[in-house]
Amino acid sequence: MPELPEAERARQQIERGLGREIVAVDDTDTYVCRPHAPGEISAALVGRRLTAAHRRGKFLWAETDDGGPDLGLHLGMAGRISVDEDPAPNRWDRFVLEFADGGRMALRDKRRLGRAVIEPDFSHVGPDAAEVSRDVFRARVGRGTLALKAKLLDQGVIAGVGNLLADETLWRARLSPRRIAGELDEEELDHLRRELRAATRDAIRDGGVHTGRFVQARGRGGTCPRCGTGLDRATIGGRTTYWCPRCQPG
Ligand SMILES: [Zn+2]
Repeated sequence: MPELPEAERARQQIERGLGREIVAVDDTDTYVCRPHAPGEISAALVGRRLTAAHRRGKFLWAETDDGGPDLGLHLGMAGRISVDEDPAPNRWDRFVLEFADGGRMALRDKRRLGRAVIEPDFSHVGPDAAEVSRDVFRARVGRGTLALKAKLLDQGVIAGVGNLLADETLWRARLSPRRIAGELDEEELDHLRRELRAATRDAIRDGGVHTGRFVQARGRGGTCPRCGTGLDRATIGGRTTYWCPRCQPG
């Protein structure tokens, strides 16, 4: 499933579509383009150009020229952004922009759980996990009675951390996923934030969350890449969670 690093790579793909005149839009998938009717997104975008690509957590959006509307995109569970890729069209393209230069940008998504929407609403989404400031991180993550793992997964607290990035980050920070979020001290919270940023940066550079040192060891029968101890496993925050009981006690 796409997490923040995959969404950041998708944002970089969208940047390849900036400044190119949109001449046609395929918005006929009424599920992916809900609540819009077919033709509605097309009418809003044809003749315009995308001017900037943004991301908050896993949410993507592009600005358009001349005061046009923002185009929101979400990758869902399995989507990605394809720009100028052959062969095209592809049967998994759920939403497509065609450019005057003959190129195209598509939301390619086998599972059909991605979204395309005009003027997206991000009011329910917390600050981006890779960019949140120290003080905001302390105030948002370091409170309440939720387990730390569940707190990191809550997109309204901070946005962009999925199941794998959460396990990788907690392993790097040597913090148990079961710790109560509100019981961490400031030093632990600052350390957690630094490791979250580092894990995110590494995953963007190396091609995705699957490249994480802990993520690669994560699984039944897996052992800690640092100390060799067998990993513990439990469901926390509704998600399968692995951790090293020796490096991440408590
Ligand atoms: Zn260990």
